[in-house]
Amino acid sequence: MTILVTGGAGYIGSHTVRALQEEGEEVVVLDDLSEGHRKAVKGTKLRKVDLKSAVRTKKALCEIRPEAVFHFAASCYVGESVTDPGKYYRQNVVALLNLLEGMAAASCKRMVFSSTCAIYGEPKRIPITEDLPKNPVNSYGRTKLHGEGMLADYHRAHGIESVSLRYFNAAGAHPDGSLGEDHEPETHLIPLVLDVALGKRKDIKIFGTDYPTRDGTCIRDYIHVMDLARAHILGLACLRDGRAGVRAYNLGNETGHSVLEVLEAARKVTGHPIPAEDAPRRPGDPPKLVGSSALARNELGWQPRFGDLEAILATAWNWHRNHPDGYGETG
Ligand code: UDP
Repeated sequence: MTILVTGGAGYIGSHTVRALQEEGEEVVVLDDLSEGHRKAVKGTKLRKVDLKSAVRTKKALCEIRPEAVFHFAASCYVGESVTDPGKYYRQNVVALLNLLEGMAAASCKRMVFSSTCAIYGEPKRIPITEDLPKNPVNSYGRTKLHGEGMLADYHRAHGIESVSLRYFNAAGAHPDGSLGEDHEPETHLIPLVLDVALGKRKDIKIFGTDYPTRDGTCIRDYIHVMDLARAHILGLACLRDGRAGVRAYNLGNETGHSVLEVLEAARKVTGHPIPAEDAPRRPGDPPKLVGSSALARNELGWQPRFGDLEAILATAWNWHRNHPDGYGETG
């Protein structure tokens, strides 16, 4: 039966599509190609559908009749979500609503949902466990938290079971060099740092050096995109076993790296000095996000394979160096 992957032409989506195919699953990608890349899913069935259209989404679901939906299609920039919340409510709430309605109409009962550590806001305790209070400090986190709430409601009303995966900071690229990160515009730290190493940017701005952290810069838990892809496969297995109901898991490496430490590691991996400049804080950034993934390890049997930041950066650098213009097209 078909696994429908929304946003499958995007960064984490395309790595997961590849992982599903390697498991022998039949995949259909639904993507409006506003940010995704056709080349990232070459050879895979792709339907260009904008999930913000309720009518088109329902039609696609009823025609494809998938066994399960992996929902990646979302907007995911913290800074932009603060300045343009409407975009985030439309893409992360309205589009999800249309998708869930379409699933209910097509009697599809399984979803693996891309959630985020941004739902925790500024956590009182590190490492973050799933039971901590959810007080997002930006619209990105808030819309994803709404998403998790919607999944609980659609479980009660329509029996849709779900596994929400709360990613920490996705990074890295496929080790075979064929897939990687290509956002336009790029706002994430690691690809921007590598753009400096490539000579595409002059320097990197460090957003805030006065945070209450060991070196004053924000601390994040970087997790390899291949490890995230693997967690989705395990999430599907959990749904198929009938174990799911409504579940949520953190996915991180349980290690925090500051912005300065990421820069230092990138200098080592690339051999480039990567000039940096202090800049004001970016609105909506919590000082420290490091997750506990004990629940995912115990219940899903998930074990990240890329635990080391330099190993993660090496795969990202391999992609960047060989694809200085990313996929070279927008769809
Ligand atoms: N960051 C930075 N300079 C940049 C981009 C990001 O200092 O040009 C910081 C950002 O403030 C955050 C961390 O790097 O503390 C990770 O940001 P990113 O946008 O990669 O991921 P996020 O944690 O926002 O999802």
